[in-house]
Amino acid sequence: MKYALVTGGSRGIGRAVCVKLASMGYNVLINYAGNTVAAEETLSLVREAGTDGELMRFDVSNADETREAIEAWQNAHRDSDEYIEVLVNNAGIRKDNILGLMPHEDWISVLSVTLNGFYNVTQPLLMSMQYHKFGRIINMASVSGIMGMQGQTNYSAAKGGLIAATKALAKEVARKNITCNAIAPGFIKTDMVEGLDEAALKKTIPANRFGTPEEIAECVAFLCTPQAGYITGNVISINGGLYT
Ligand code: NAP
Repeated sequence: MKYALVTGGSRGIGRAVCVKLASMGYNVLINYAGNTVAAEETLSLVREAGTDGELMRFDVSNADETREAIEAWQNAHRDSDEYIEVLVNNAGIRKDNILGLMPHEDWISVLSVTLNGFYNVTQPLLMSMQYHKFGRIINMASVSGIMGMQGQTNYSAAKGGLIAATKALAKEVARKNITCNAIAPGFIKTDMVEGLDEAALKKTIPANRFGTPEEIAECVAFLCTPQAGYITGNVISINGGLYT
């Protein structure tokens, strides 16, 4: 049995990734923060896609909670040769504001979920990937982390940092047949973009539309294949031509 862990798998892009990985034969560990109803819906879709999965509720920004959940899974699989070979660091939040009006907690929480979350989840999984000499790490960044977006200094900093971490880690683990890449989506139709003026924003996108979670999931799926083994330390933009 091959295992994939998707953080923020209950909704949006994470859900589409869970379903796609299930269709590729992965047993999917669906992490989420609190929305159990949505996470259970993802689990049903994973089962419909032909495999199985399990829910793993923990806050990726909480180091102790995250380590406990991952170690509990690892301890339960210690006797078998099973390990988490695919990790999709997808959990993310945005708390937009111009910096002059941004409360300290909104700076901290956005960085915590994305950057501390990356460390908290990835670090405990690396040793088993290295031992098995195969691993795939995919980090969900954003166009904001490349170009910088006004009203999103916290989010842009978090995603820019995640991109830098992706490049550094890729170099550390490449010899062990582990790849580490980032995907930088533009506007994708999920709960996260609710409240944005889609009609106005899509005029700024050459493709004249928002993307879909499934379009992101296809790229994650390819990066997980053995055929993508020479692609590492990259940032793949999926944004309808918004920024190249
Ligand atoms: P979404 O629909 O808002 O879903 C967010 C997911 O992250 C949910 O599953 C949520 O769990 C989970 N989550 C949030 N905080 C968490 C925490 N502390 N610990 C564990 N899980 C947590 O978001 P999305 O649009 O699918 O975005 C997914 C990723 O893509 C994010 O990293 C986002 O920054 C990035 N992205 C999105 C867009 C876009 O246009 N949508 C563009 C660029 C990048 P609950 O359901 O339990 O709350």
